[in-house]
Amino acid sequence: MDKLKDAAIAENWDSALPRKSYEKLERVETSNEWFEIYKLPKDVFAIYEPGHFQEVISFLIIGEKKAILLDTGMGIGNIHKLVHSLTDKEIEVVNSHSHFDHIGENYKFPKISILEDVNAVTTLEKGYTEEELKPHVTSEMFAKTPPKDFIAETYRMPSCEFDLLHEGDVLDLGNRKLKVIHTPGHSSDSIMLHDEENRILFTGDTFYPGALYAHFDEPFYGKSNLEIYLNSLQKIANDVVPHIDYMYCSHNEPVNEPRLIVEAMKALQAILDNKASYQRDESGLRRYDFDGFAVITKD
Ligand SMILES: [Zn+2]
Repeated sequence: MDKLKDAAIAENWDSALPRKSYEKLERVETSNEWFEIYKLPKDVFAIYEPGHFQEVISFLIIGEKKAILLDTGMGIGNIHKLVHSLTDKEIEVVNSHSHFDHIGENYKFPKISILEDVNAVTTLEKGYTEEELKPHVTSEMFAKTPPKDFIAETYRMPSCEFDLLHEGDVLDLGNRKLKVIHTPGHSSDSIMLHDEENRILFTGDTFYPGALYAHFDEPFYGKSNLEIYLNSLQKIANDVVPHIDYMYCSHNEPVNEPRLIVEAMKALQAILDNKASYQRDESGLRRYDFDGFAVITKD
């Protein structure tokens, strides 16, 4: 087998683009050249950034009274303007967690909520500096040219004001309610949102069809924890998966089958039991490949 150079970032990551599953989704026309927008079942828009390695997806969830924007993306393509072209409802931001690829345009919105967690609070109070973000906007991170007004050298994320969320909080959008579920593991501040009535689970970064990051241990990303990650997946597999039809995930491809949570749970259990095989990269990370996703851990 080829020697793995980087477990987290494959050298030819953009060869997977365009991803086939998008052909089945309803694309919404936009003059914005950075984002792709898809209308998903149950009044949800997926706002996808295929031009950057992160391939992050933010979700605009429309209710009768107001709309929730789950994450504000990379801060590269003006999501603030975009979401206001999709709804005239008042828009409140909820962050799935505080990693840079999910909070890029927080500072443009009047109301932001994030889980009460030391990492989340410190990050949003501080923002991200040019120095911290520089490695994430080198040319090899881009699959398409960023907008003209994007300048990599001055790319930063200002601090913002925010409210705090807690496990079990319910966000009331009028005709739909979103329940906050704390799912630490990838990061300590990760949450999911459960729309019980519409049988949808918004998974954030705790699950998506790609390499799941469980290896972080540095100030920029905070600390991942594999045992805690497994606990979160067990909780979701038992309490939520039987009650959902759709899983909307925050990277790569938005719509995924709920059973994948159970597969991810089994995968993490196998890793912790030393029963899964892996490749080790030059920096000492392990990549465990499974059907439909992978898991990155420290050696
Ligand atoms: Zn992310």
